[in-house]
Amino acid sequence: MAYDYDLFVIGAGSGGVRASRIAATHGARVGICEDFRVGGTCVIRGCVPKKLMVYASKFAHEFEDAVGFGWESARPPHSWPILRDNVAREVDRLNALYIRLLEGAGVTLHMGRGRLLDRHTVEVGERLVTADKILIATGGQPVVPPIPGHEFAITSNEAFHLPELPKRIAIVGGGYISVEFAGIFNGLGSHVDMVLRRDRVLRGFDEECRTFVHEALVHSGIKMRTEMEISRIEATTDAKGGKGPYRVHTPLGGMFETDLVMYATGRSPNTTGMGLEKVGVQLDKAGAVAVDEWSKTTADNIWAVGDVTDRIALTPVALMEGHCFADTEFGKKPRKADHRDVPSAVFCQPEMANVGLTEEEARLRLGELRVYTSAFTPMKYTIAGRKQRTFMKLIVEAATDKVVGVHMVGDDAAELVQGLAIAIKAGATKAQFDATVGIHPTAGEEFVTMRTARAEPTPKKAAAE
Ligand code: NDP
Repeated sequence: MAYDYDLFVIGAGSGGVRASRIAATHGARVGICEDFRVGGTCVIRGCVPKKLMVYASKFAHEFEDAVGFGWESARPPHSWPILRDNVAREVDRLNALYIRLLEGAGVTLHMGRGRLLDRHTVEVGERLVTADKILIATGGQPVVPPIPGHEFAITSNEAFHLPELPKRIAIVGGGYISVEFAGIFNGLGSHVDMVLRRDRVLRGFDEECRTFVHEALVHSGIKMRTEMEISRIEATTDAKGGKGPYRVHTPLGGMFETDLVMYATGRSPNTTGMGLEKVGVQLDKAGAVAVDEWSKTTADNIWAVGDVTDRIALTPVALMEGHCFADTEFGKKPRKADHRDVPSAVFCQPEMANVGLTEEEARLRLGELRVYTSAFTPMKYTIAGRKQRTFMKLIVEAATDKVVGVHMVGDDAAELVQGLAIAIKAGATKAQFDATVGIHPTAGEEFVTMRTARAEPTPKKAAAE
């Protein structure tokens, strides 16, 4: 049967756009649909606008640092509308660029929500398109627990478009998005309450790094409300009948006030209303599309990549998965996505980045380890007087001398760890780190000059959570 397309992609985010472009360059006839904006979470309401806002908020600390270097004390006023609108303009530019990239590759864009009618037919708005192969790349969306008053809360989706900067904001959750936005709002001058159901932020990361970040966030002025659940959010009215602050209530009768509540309590895959079950695409326990190592679903001609699958919810991973799929199916170059040693960063302040195993994972999976750590005040902050330290950690498998984990909390952690990730991927040994000459004076040279392993056994491992 002749189909309209060789490949039809549902969702024009990072994974979908990459897969469609690569498939088209391999000669496939490709169509793609999108119901919001081309670019997906990362470009439109995730990584890109977030990082721009992180840059904005960091100036606050740098103005303070400058005084120690002889600049007169100055903290110029900040305009939220200017920042918000400039960020939105950059997002618009990237959105247009992504559309041009699709056009340039010969991919046909259909605006509208895609729904599978059968294994080869997708309904997009009023139109039906047919394709030999289908790729689901619909990403995910924020989850807000359905507590009373949850409708008053915003998520990261809305945080980029606020009419004004809140004087006070409560951010619920202790993961990536929560700590990143806590840093943004704190830097821009809001009072930030972080509400965590655990004792510390960033569960799943190296325990020492978590603790280091948590303490640094407290030091930066963020109010940590740990081991706290929220039972309800109450909206109040002020004396003139206008909108007053929100009251955030806890199950035991506690309460605090804030001007805005933001939930960052995880994301769920976009799988509802797509007709997946009808065409034999199974979901896994997490509600994500179940895929094999080739990103193939349980339906023979349907694949899925990115956050709609339950693998690693990061843009570069979605890009890798989409690219591997397109090369395999349309480029005669079969290759599987490699999810080992994926580096990642959290753009909290101070920044955290890592590649490889945490110490806790390494202790569970490997034998004897050598662990090297270093904590120091970066040169810039000696004169600046900023009380912010950097933390670095190398985890080495004793039997092979292989460096199996690199972790850093501090300025430019993401930039540094990106480079070191190549060494880890290549299987570098500690001896090879030691044989590498440092660049002086940098923080990064510390990674090649850590000579003394911490005494083993290490201090008591934090209780598994
Ligand atoms: P995360 O899964 O990272 O964190 C969710 C947080 O919310 C956890 O602290 C979790 O606590 C808490 N939580 C979950 N449910 C509740 C609840 N009902 N009440 C209170 N707290 C709750 O999710 P995010 O939304 O921060 O980010 C989603 C994903 O997006 C990330 O996992 C990451 O893959 C990606 N991302 C990556 C970024 C980057 O690369 N820099 C930036 C932003 C997002 P607990 O630990 O107890 O489960």
